[in-house]
Amino acid sequence: AYVVAEPCIKCKYTDCVEVCPVDCFYEGQNFLVIHPDECIDCGACEPACPTKAIFPEESLPEKWKEYTGLNADLCKTW
Ligand code: SF4
Repeated sequence: AYVVAEPCIKCKYTDCVEVCPVDCFYEGQNFLVIHPDECIDCGACEPACPTKAIFPEESLPEKWKEYTGLNADLCKTW
C-alpha cells in the first residue's frame, strides 16, 4: 500500500483524494492517511501530491518509517 508521510502535515490540498479511484484517503487531525487494506497500489496519488508526501510502502524514506503504522492506525480511528 501507499503511505502518507510527514510533508503532508498541515497541507490539506487534497489533490490526492480527488485522484484516488477507491476513495481510501481518510482525514487525520493534521494530515491525511491511506487505508492500507483499501489502497490498490495504482500510484495515481503519488504525482498528484504537491508536497511529495506519498510513497509506496517499500520506498518510504527511513526517517518516516513510523508513518506506515500511523496510516494504518489513524484511518481506523477517524
Ligand atoms: Fe488511492 Fe491509488 Fe494512491 Fe492507493 S495508490 S491511495 S489506490 S490513488
